Amino acid sequence: MSLKELKAWEIAEGYRNRDFSCTEVTEEFLNNIEEKDKDINAYLTVTKDLALEQAKKVDEKFNNREELSEISGVPISVKDNISVKDVKLTCGSKMLENYISPYDATLVEKIKSNDGVILGKVNLDEFAMGASTRTSYYGVTKNPLDLTRVSGGSSGGSAASVKSNQAAISIGTDTGGSVRQPSSFCQTVGMKPTYGSISRFGVSTMANTFDQPGVIAKDVRDAIMMLNVIEGRDERDATSVGNPGLNYNFDYSDDVIKNLEGVKFAIPKLYLEMNLNERVRKELEEAIKVLRDNGAIVEEYDIDSLGYTIETYNILVNGEIASNMARFDSIRYGHRTSKDYENIEEMYRASRSEGFGEEVKRRIMIGTHILSMDNADEYYYKALKVRGLIKNDMDKMFKDYDIMLCPTVPTLPFKIDDDMSPIEMYQADLFTIPANMIGAPSISLPMPLGEDGLSIGIEFTGKRFKDRDLLKAALGFERSLIK
Ligand code: GLN
Repeated sequence: MSLKELKAWEIAEGYRNRDFSCTEVTEEFLNNIEEKDKDINAYLTVTKDLALEQAKKVDEKFNNREELSEISGVPISVKDNISVKDVKLTCGSKMLENYISPYDATLVEKIKSNDGVILGKVNLDEFAMGASTRTSYYGVTKNPLDLTRVSGGSSGGSAASVKSNQAAISIGTDTGGSVRQPSSFCQTVGMKPTYGSISRFGVSTMANTFDQPGVIAKDVRDAIMMLNVIEGRDERDATSVGNPGLNYNFDYSDDVIKNLEGVKFAIPKLYLEMNLNERVRKELEEAIKVLRDNGAIVEEYDIDSLGYTIETYNILVNGEIASNMARFDSIRYGHRTSKDYENIEEMYRASRSEGFGEEVKRRIMIGTHILSMDNADEYYYKALKVRGLIKNDMDKMFKDYDIMLCPTVPTLPFKIDDDMSPIEMYQADLFTIPANMIGAPSISLPMPLGEDGLSIGIEFTGKRFKDRDLLKAALGFERSLIK
């Protein structure tokens, strides 16, 4: 097995055993990017020099027997809506084509101070709005499992970079499923922790009451390793709350991990009554069997309010988007039109029309409409109430159950040239959104490859601040899948 195929924790173990150097590992990943990314298009910026410099530093520390962290020397890709100082931050938009970030996001600071090696910035749907990376100004990121299909979104570059061994681990963001949905499409693990666990400082905002950074990795253990580093309270983000697990520490031996005795899973009945893709339904049934065989209890549960998920999400999120996007005025930052203009109004209009893509404009328009005058009562405040209703119903379920179980996405990865309407696209988020609505931790876990060369993800959603229990169950399920 080559170095680039190793899991992040295996790389860390290799360093401790002096099996290889960080420079060797980093070079191998960089070479792979050079070779593969022409086909995949995961990276928007490769920070080769920074990565090699960092690798050299890590090797020196190893040679001097200095104290190192769990993620020292691990090659990482970062979604391009997260700030890395002195590196481009495009958010997948023409608007920020030439914008260089003047500071590090808190989570990036933490990666750097723990000696992680950042290889570069990866592709996303424009400002994280989408589920396919097709809305990126820089082109779609292809699915490494099947190059005719999308990698999912919005953190498609993150999932594709991990799956194609162009990074050992990646950081994404999740507003309505953007870490979990591409993980389902690309056969990676995608974890969005409890809202507030990871600071949003330095992370471009899409919808601030929903947004949460997350981790995309080759297995659950890798995700845990990264969460240990990047979670935590941050004074610069007023909504940050700290690390729910206060450093997760697990015994990874088989008999401990596989035990799912008595863990209670609930599947929303509504989801089972839907017209699910046949492959997806089959994999869900297989997942239920694996859970039951290992001691878990899996039952159906009625939550009718989940039927309002998509409408509620789109009203609330677009409202937040409309106000958050107002900052791109081409004065403080952003694309400035080269057309002539008579006044500031014309300048705004031309710059924003040229700088934003279709999906972003659609959402700004819907959001502005929803928030204007009487519409706010009619739509926005009503949707807030429904969000409360969904939260109450889910909290009630969590009194009797530990985890909500469902497929991560109702479908298989879309074909790149599938002609889908925005409404059809929005349906892809049906199962991922509830966790964002209520701020709960949620993880997508990959099923084995099928005969068609594709995999589907199974989603576990846990109770707020019970991330540790969620991760433990995820480890158990993952280990039980290995035949
Ligand atoms: N696909 C969802 C949307 O387009 C989620 C996006 C996200 O989580 N950033 O809104």
